[in-house]
Amino acid sequence: MQAVVISIGTELTLGQTVDTNSAWLAQRLAEIGVETALHLTLADELRPVEAEIRRAASSFDVVLISGGLGPTDDDLTRQALAGAMGVSLVVHEPSLIQIVEFFSKRGIAMPDANRVQAMIPVGASAIENTTGTAPGIRARLGRADLFAMPGVPSEMKVMFERDVRPALAARSGDGVILQAVIRTYGAAESEIGRQIADLMKRGRNPNVGTTAQEAIIGVRINAHGKSRDEAKRLLAADAAEVRRRLGKVVFGEREETLQHAVAELLWAAGKTVSTAESCTGGMVAKRLTDISGSSRYFLDGVVTYSNEAKHRLLAVPAEMLARHGAVSMEVAEFMAANCRTISGSDYAISTTGIAGPTGGSAEKPIGLVYLGLATPHGVSGRELRLGDHLSRDQVRDRATKAALNMLRLELLGGR
Ligand code: AMP
Ligand code: MG
Repeated sequence: MQAVVISIGTELTLGQTVDTNSAWLAQRLAEIGVETALHLTLADELRPVEAEIRRAASSFDVVLISGGLGPTDDDLTRQALAGAMGVSLVVHEPSLIQIVEFFSKRGIAMPDANRVQAMIPVGASAIENTTGTAPGIRARLGRADLFAMPGVPSEMKVMFERDVRPALAARSGDGVILQAVIRTYGAAESEIGRQIADLMKRGRNPNVGTTAQEAIIGVRINAHGKSRDEAKRLLAADAAEVRRRLGKVVFGEREETLQHAVAELLWAAGKTVSTAESCTGGMVAKRLTDISGSSRYFLDGVVTYSNEAKHRLLAVPAEMLARHGAVSMEVAEFMAANCRTISGSDYAISTTGIAGPTGGSAEKPIGLVYLGLATPHGVSGRELRLGDHLSRDQVRDRATKAALNMLRLELLGGR
């Protein structure tokens, strides 16, 4: 079964409200084995909505609509639906009684404008709204089972769970779609695509694809099974294969972050970390302490932004600063090594770089960052050339991620 999800509202097409209903509905449909093939966002305009509903109902098995069922003149979904069905609107008495009661319970008479909310197209049925005034509408049109729900996300969700999901699940029999996301850092999207190209083939089940967001590449796996168990088994097999092929660039699943991965490794090893930051201004320390329970591994962090602070707090020799500059491998390594000594931690991370948009030079361009990592076995450094096309925020974010990843790989060691 294939579905189209339609969101209706001029505030959505103008970009003033972000359409969250469509994503939520498509995820719920996947849970009952219905694949969403199309999302449409339409303004509150009678003719276009009417035409799109008719077209959707002729090509899909399920049409889910949210929005435009309100009492005011700008909400036109019920009129458009009646138009698409070629019928008129009639008052649905039980709904009218409910709306009147909804207001009387609150001690007010029903405004005239709300009367229209009790109207549904001839031949359609009303779906009770237990959290607001506008009932939903269920109809058969073309080849589709069609459901129109209120736009208010909380009302829409209750109505979907209470009536729409059971109605669709009874029809579907198409099984279940389960999803996993495997998160990676450190390999380009094209490189990942090359390593799992056969899994990403069109038409394959599970369906595998990549997404890139701020240097994190996610591998998305959607497995379709006749039963939940079958979908689970297919998903687990692909997830294991993706992990096996990509190896250490995989750091987590779903919403997990690099700091989650680092925290797990530090906990497991019973080790501690400290930070000495310049260009990242405390972002590495911030992320390390984003994790509940971070006091078990995070000891302290300094932000030594000026040369004077690097000298005063970390004893970076003035001569080293003068000879190599604050943005240099020498200074990064010295910062990390002495931070570890002063703190007494097992590991120390340092950052120093040029975040931009000013302050770059031919020799030291924007996006040049040095990272230091001090360990019980010595100190190492890394040079990043992130590129001057990135914003200041992006340079600092990328540098922070690279620093966390350096520690992650160190903790993974020979594993
Ligand atoms: P409506 O049912 O069209 O009167 O919508 C009522 C309110 O719900 C709108 O003013 C929006 O704030 C919100 N809303 C409607 N559609 C959506 C949507 N697709 N995603 C998120 N919010 C929505
Ligand atoms: Mg509206």
